[in-house]
Amino acid sequence: MLIVMKPHATAEQIEAVRQKIQSMGLSAHSIPGAQRVAIGITGNRGALEAELFITMPGVADAVRVSQPFKLVSREVKEEDTVIDVGGVLLGGRQIAVMAGPCSVESKEQILEAAFAVKNAGAVILRGGAFKPRTSPYEFQGLREEGLKLLALARERTGLKIVTEIKDTETVPMVAAYADILQVGARNMQNFSLLEKLGSLDKPVLLKRGLSATLKELLMAAEYIVSRGNHRVALCERGIRTFETMTRNTLDINAVPVLKTLSHLPVVVDPSHGIGLRQHVPAIARAGVAAGADALIIEVHPQPDKALSDGHQSLSTTEFATLMKQLEGIAKAIQRPLVNPALT
Ligand code: PEP
Ligand code: MN
Repeated sequence: MLIVMKPHATAEQIEAVRQKIQSMGLSAHSIPGAQRVAIGITGNRGALEAELFITMPGVADAVRVSQPFKLVSREVKEEDTVIDVGGVLLGGRQIAVMAGPCSVESKEQILEAAFAVKNAGAVILRGGAFKPRTSPYEFQGLREEGLKLLALARERTGLKIVTEIKDTETVPMVAAYADILQVGARNMQNFSLLEKLGSLDKPVLLKRGLSATLKELLMAAEYIVSRGNHRVALCERGIRTFETMTRNTLDINAVPVLKTLSHLPVVVDPSHGIGLRQHVPAIARAGVAAGADALIIEVHPQPDKALSDGHQSLSTTEFATLMKQLEGIAKAIQRPLVNPALT
């Protein structure tokens, strides 16, 4: 249930509502919003009676939330969540692009990639330091050394950093370097990890699991948000289907559906979504056209020499060309593409 307070409700009236919720053995969650003060209630097994709250001083309304994902649903918060990633905004009107290699491989590689994506207009640098590889014999990432190189690239370029957090043990280390923590598709339902991220003060990019439904993705986001971390972005990165010509099938439907069901920003990953370099630009353009708030794209200075995902990584020139095309698409849907390189 969602308790909506009157515009001039006093701090005491709000506190009284929280106290009442807690006295019933339930949890009270503040729903951040510019327009009103609202408190979400979770933990109840059956439906709550609106009368319990509607009669309290300062309460405007008590609304039943029909979706199982409560706090991330549009029902509890109509306006879009805008996540501040160290000054870069995810969500709302503007479209942001994150780009960089699948894995951080060396100082030269990450710096070259960072400067190239920055010059083309990306605002966040991606790069994996802890890689969840299908085979234990493949490159597993440079680990802390990779994080240090990302921090160096941030220092040199001013780009923010997104990198994957692979397990609960490394949360303090990775969180110390990253501006936004990526939960990979294989970890979408690692509930211990989600719970841990829920108590951090750090934005999270939550990728959709390989075979996860949108409801499961939203429930995974709910794990993080219900622990108090509201800065979660949802990422569609392709799902497993019967199709074998492409690595995954980017579920373009997910974009408008997630935007309707949830107030959280939606990110599209065209690189893993299709897995074929030559087609990544088409899918990236489709993501923006469908209403994504951000893209995350793999870009490598020498894709054919990449230690992971080279076949789906754009060269730096291909990326620069794509960014120009994305400007046009963003314009057509009256949304600005954040592009400090062009301003
Ligand atoms: C990645 O971003 O390189 C990655 C491993 O993504 P996913 O978890 O979507 O497979
Ligand atoms: Mn990758």
